[in-house]
Amino acid sequence: MKKGSLSINSENIFPIIKKWLYSDHDIFVRELISNATDAITKLKKLSLAGEFTKPQDEKYKIEVEVSPKQKIIRFSDNGIGMTEEEVEKYINQIAFSGAVDFIEKYKDKANEEQIIGHFGLGFYSAFMVADKVSIDTLSYKEGSKPVHWESDGGLEFEMGDGEKSTRGTTVTLYLNENCHEFANEFRVKEVLNKYCSFMPEEIFLKDIDADAATQIIESSELLDSDTVIENIIEPAKTEEKEKEDGTKEVVEVEPAKEKVKIVKRPVPINDIHPLWTKHPNECSNEEYIEFYRKVFMDYKEPLFWIHLNMDYPFNLKGILYFPKINSEYDSIEGTIKLYNNQVFIADNIKEVIPEFLLLLKGVIDSADIPLNVSRSALQNDGSVRKISEYIAKKVADKLSGMCKTERDKYEKYWDDIAPFIKYGYLKDEKFGKKVEDYILFKNINDKYLTLNELVEESKSGESENEKDSVDKKSDTAESKKEDKEESKTDIFYVNDVKEQSQYVNIFKSAGKDAVVLPHSIDVPFISTLEMKRGDVKFLRIDSDVSDDMRSEDISEESKKAYDELCEKVKSALHNDKLKVSVQLLKNDEISSVITVSEESRRMQEMMKQYGMMGMDPSMFGGEGETLVLNANHPLVKELLSDSHKEYFDMICEQLYDMASISHSPLSPERMSAFIKRSNELMLKLK
Ligand code: ADP
Repeated sequence: MKKGSLSINSENIFPIIKKWLYSDHDIFVRELISNATDAITKLKKLSLAGEFTKPQDEKYKIEVEVSPKQKIIRFSDNGIGMTEEEVEKYINQIAFSGAVDFIEKYKDKANEEQIIGHFGLGFYSAFMVADKVSIDTLSYKEGSKPVHWESDGGLEFEMGDGEKSTRGTTVTLYLNENCHEFANEFRVKEVLNKYCSFMPEEIFLKDIDADAATQIIESSELLDSDTVIENIIEPAKTEEKEKEDGTKEVVEVEPAKEKVKIVKRPVPINDIHPLWTKHPNECSNEEYIEFYRKVFMDYKEPLFWIHLNMDYPFNLKGILYFPKINSEYDSIEGTIKLYNNQVFIADNIKEVIPEFLLLLKGVIDSADIPLNVSRSALQNDGSVRKISEYIAKKVADKLSGMCKTERDKYEKYWDDIAPFIKYGYLKDEKFGKKVEDYILFKNINDKYLTLNELVEESKSGESENEKDSVDKKSDTAESKKEDKEESKTDIFYVNDVKEQSQYVNIFKSAGKDAVVLPHSIDVPFISTLEMKRGDVKFLRIDSDVSDDMRSEDISEESKKAYDELCEKVKSALHNDKLKVSVQLLKNDEISSVITVSEESRRMQEMMKQYGMMGMDPSMFGGEGETLVLNANHPLVKELLSDSHKEYFDMICEQLYDMASISHSPLSPERMSAFIKRSNELMLKLK
């Protein structure tokens, strides 16, 4: 037996390794299986080069065995194996000194526990969960002798002749007291599913303490595909009977039977050819959906997906799914799983995947993502940035392509993908530029239009109106500023179709268009869009009374009477922040409406989002609000005619409250007053 020890300061290495190096203890499983996979890959390469011939009936595989009784977990592969010199070099020198290097490099960053994928330290991670680790290995090289290596504690080792009779390597971990869970088949299965579901060599898991899963059944019973069968003859049952003459004889009570012995066929825990490794042309829609269901456990079908497949300038494969989001309140946090050559690394690494894409679900596999560095280094890594840009570009290309060539399909998905795209528009300038022209707006007639289509529509409407309304503005500085604002195209929008239904009806009957923007993301979205485009202005449908809602212009004679009425209404309502205006509206069933200037409303909304006020807009005391009275309505005509002096105040209050109700809920005090007043008014009917 050869003995040796690590030439490092043993007092500080272990606490560090055990505590923070791998914040997830279960990662040793991934590391040891990666080594086993590599060992098989190396042998495959040798075989391709003609330097090794695998026996025909042998299949490459990795076996994981647990024994809850012995508290061990064991990893075996039939890969390349190691000679004594190789164990000396790769394990004693490299693996151990690799650990030392690693600690040297990262000891100052002990708090940066986000270091991911420390591939350089693979084998050594076994000591996170085991006190004693042994290796039994036999190299593929002809004439090799088996080697046994073991280390108790990870600082000293012994190495000598072994007994392994088959090619490959077996690593046995004698689990320490806190880690006995890894001798449990179900726990290990969980870990294997997490890290190894798509590793490129078949992995089998077995509890060696459990009885072999065999069962004997009648041959007529059905068998499933996971079983292997073996025909057996169950011998006839016999009994010893006493004959009349007192002698004994053996009689058959049941004849011999043909039966089958079934043994569960071991099934690998992993899929060695995950869908993303295939060429997009080879994958069917069903396969994409099945893969999605299996990996993300989402019973809903994804809307559509993007298969990424690239070799140059970096190697990257993956599938990104657009999940179906049921409502704005569904958590729309996706999962992007990151792999390095089919080995799972981590979920949702913001540094590699553009943040807004984290709303999607998907898998990304790239050997070009450096894994042995900290997250902050990832952020500044050139190839990571390129990968991230590439992914965002692919997503933008898919969206614009769909909008151009499959508009129907694109419109069908639009409501579901809109929040995601708008978020991306806000978060990523390059992505925003690419998708800007393909953002759709649903109008009040459920038609989908791009912004350019909307602008065009609005312009063609304008030119018709321009003929009858000739502008007679003087050339003052004020009006020049206004001109600039006016050269912008107004896009009217609704954010709550029910709440703003009164205005929607006015718009519809005037033949005007408005778009529906219901999500909270729409507030920052339209502001950004206005800023970037510069040629459009978004106005909520109730922000003003537009020209085409009016039946006619106000004549000079009426103007004086209207102005007087406004003053009287204002003093009746005791609210000097509120503006009052009298207009002649086309729809004579409407007595009064409230308009809120776009600026004040956005301000209110922003404050609401930051939780600066209880939802009641009346807290603003009517700031930015205008009460519009329709002089075409009989009630307003009454007010103008001065015939009901005694009820004047009451009617004004009622008109104001009614207009407010169809705009936003009244405060509790105003609501009670409104009900009380409504009752009083009804009593007057007598
Ligand atoms: P890494 O895998 O990053 O090289 P490890 O510490 O995990 O570092 O392993 C060190 C070396 O030991 C490997 O590079 C390999 O040469 C050898 N080795 C480890 N496990 C096996 C195995 N199962 N079969 C053959 N060689 C192995």
